Formats: sequence, C-alpha cells, structure tokens
Amino acid sequence: MKQECETKGDCIFCKIIRKEIPAHLLYENSHALSFLDINPANKGHALIIPKKHAETTLDLNEKELKELIVVVMKVAKAVKKTMGSQAFNIIQNDGKLAGQLVMHAHFHVVPRFENDCLDYRTKRTQYAHGEASELAKQISEAVE
Ligand code: AMP
Ligand code: ZN
Repeated sequence: MKQECETKGDCIFCKIIRKEIPAHLLYENSHALSFLDINPANKGHALIIPKKHAETTLDLNEKELKELIVVVMKVAKAVKKTMGSQAFNIIQNDGKLAGQLVMHAHFHVVPRFENDCLDYRTKRTQYAHGEASELAKQISEAVE
C-alpha cells in the first residue's frame, strides 16, 4: 500500500500525509487520509484529503474524485455513529474566494446536533486534553 504523499512541498496537509506533523487520524488507505479538524465546528469534525497533492477538487481526475468521495462517506458514517448525531454536513470550499484556506483539496464532514446553531465559519470549539485522541480512536474503530 502506498502511504506517502507524492510531493515534497510545504503544504501542511502533505506534511500530515508524510507524518511530519501530527494529526488525529481517522482512516487511511492508499489514496486518501482522514483526520480530525484541529479547530472543529462541532466535535467529530473530520477532514478527508487525497494523498496526491491537488490544490482543488477540480485538479483531481474522475477516478481520484470517486475514490475520495467513497472515503468521505465512509468517514461520515463512522462520525455520525460515534457522535450519535442526527445529521451531518459535507462542506467543500473550492478556491480562495470560496473560503478555502488550505490549498490541498479536502472535504469537511461536520456532525450536526439539535439546536447546535452551527456557523462553521465563525464558531469553532475546542477539545479538552486527550479528548481528540480518544474520539479519533472511537471514530477509526467505527469505520466499516
Ligand atoms: P478550508 O477553509 O476548507 O480550507 O478549511 C481548512 C481546515 O483545515 C480548517 O477547518 C482548519 O481548522 C483545518 N486545519 C488547518 N490546519 C490543520 C491541522 N494541522 N490539522 C487539522 N486540521 C487543520
Ligand atoms: Zn498538499
């Protein structure tokens, strides 16, 4: 199984793929990686990225997009189950004008709860010490 990012660049998500900086991993296969967002809109907020560095989703080919969306749904199911959420949002900011801050294509999965009044742009929460590791363990174990 190929585990490495194809680029050697400065991109923060490529560094996570190469395990040069830590992340709370949820799932990994040969073409995609998922980990907890460091600044979650709701607890359980996950990111899913292709292992190939591509700035936006339109820089991925059809096969790569299909492989990625399968992982998005796999992770979404595990997040929903683990968090006991009724629903979730899949968010994909494509391009700086759309609010993309990290220029490595990615999908967000954000679990939703009754009356959570989520505004993912302005309201983020934080994990208590050790909470993200425990949650990541639970979510990763729930991935089918
Ligand atoms: P976007 O605005 O769609 O580009 O979102 C980028 C997301 O990446 C934000 O929600 C950040 O909180 C998240 N993020 C940035 N750096 C890291 C990191 N080192 N580990 C996990 N998530 C990160
Ligand atoms: Zn990258």
